[in-house]
Amino acid sequence: MGMPEHGTAWDVLSQEMLERGKNDVKWREGKTAVYVFNAGEDVSQVQKEAYTMYMSENGLGPLAFPSLKQMEDEVISMGLGLLHGPEGAAGNITSGGTDSINMAVKAARDFGRQVKGIKGTCNIVAPWSAHPAFDKAAKMMELEIRRVPVGDDLKADVAAMAEAIDGNTIMLVGSAPCFPYGLIDPIEALGKLAEEKDVWLHVDACVGGYIAPFVRMNGGDIPPFDFEVPGVKSMSADLHKYGYCAKGASTVLYRSDELRSYMIFDCDNWPGGRMVTPTLAGTRPGGAISAAWAVMNFLGVEGYRAKHKLVTDAREKIEAGVKKLGFHILGAPQLGIVAFGHDEVDPMAVWGKMFERGWFTSVSTEPKGLHLMLSPFHAQVADTYLADIEWALGEVKSGNKGEKREARYS
Ligand SMILES: *Cc1c(COP(=O)(O)O)cnc(C)c1O
Repeated sequence: MGMPEHGTAWDVLSQEMLERGKNDVKWREGKTAVYVFNAGEDVSQVQKEAYTMYMSENGLGPLAFPSLKQMEDEVISMGLGLLHGPEGAAGNITSGGTDSINMAVKAARDFGRQVKGIKGTCNIVAPWSAHPAFDKAAKMMELEIRRVPVGDDLKADVAAMAEAIDGNTIMLVGSAPCFPYGLIDPIEALGKLAEEKDVWLHVDACVGGYIAPFVRMNGGDIPPFDFEVPGVKSMSADLHKYGYCAKGASTVLYRSDELRSYMIFDCDNWPGGRMVTPTLAGTRPGGAISAAWAVMNFLGVEGYRAKHKLVTDAREKIEAGVKKLGFHILGAPQLGIVAFGHDEVDPMAVWGKMFERGWFTSVSTEPKGLHLMLSPFHAQVADTYLADIEWALGEVKSGNKGEKREARYS
């Protein structure tokens, strides 16, 4: 298919685009609990208008756009403030969690090589439940990734991780929380281990960094998971997840600007002038930065606390409801993700029946479970979800399994 010879009017195109969306998941009705965060119309409007306001501007040029630089600095400062960043802590906005993790790995690797003199293949020691972004980083940078089985509580097994560390370990990973179960790894114990072995500890708070502090303020008993733990050198926390910002925005944070300096790329070896970039990107969409700044200031602490209360309420309601149906919760989640299995039926079969009812959610594969990453909007549809899963379970139990489907990310 080539490019059309003649242009088409925007009103025609926009109609066609809306039409194409009709086969997509029904996230606006709350029937999706993966990929999309629905924090409500008010947040959505701020995202859109703030994004378009700086859509053409480029975060690559802080001298040209001091506005974006200032907004980025303020977003980082808000992030560090929430995550106990000590005096002198620093960070940047990246395009997403994968980007943040890649940059933290790059910084830890360069630190390991330059400061600790590590030679040969470097390795990362991570729990089995850590995000594949670490494997991606390892692939790109030719590192070895050592995934260590989690404990019976489905959290990082600190003793087993200690065994996996050697002189070439550049990074130890803990998640707050991990994606598959929504559970916070024992970061304090990992921090002690990191200090003992003198290894860089990264906390992947991509999906927790902008919810956990507020759940704690709301009374949740959240264990220390951030820079409050002395061994933590860097963190990733996604703005476009529970920060409810527009997509294309995450934060990568460091205990000190000195540590951050190992992330930065600086090149003067071409005829176009010296180029210094903090993250992987060259051009950086101004809209992602301006929308993040606007949403954070629009919500403020009170706004986030209220939105996240809806998330944890929805999770608690769904947990209670599915338990009544014979499901068991995997661990004791405290934030926005919950996964649950069943002793008698295959959760994947239930997933397939829920899909028939328009629900698009995720799964955990080991142990098998249904998986939800909840948004504030789900507080409104928790009852519908429970009614539908009761129906789905009944169908599966009576042998009416429906079409076999595979839940996967491709
Ligand atoms: C989402 C997620 C990531 C990756 O973030 P992207 O923005 O999808 O690249 C990394 N770690 C955890 C725990 C996540 O939930």
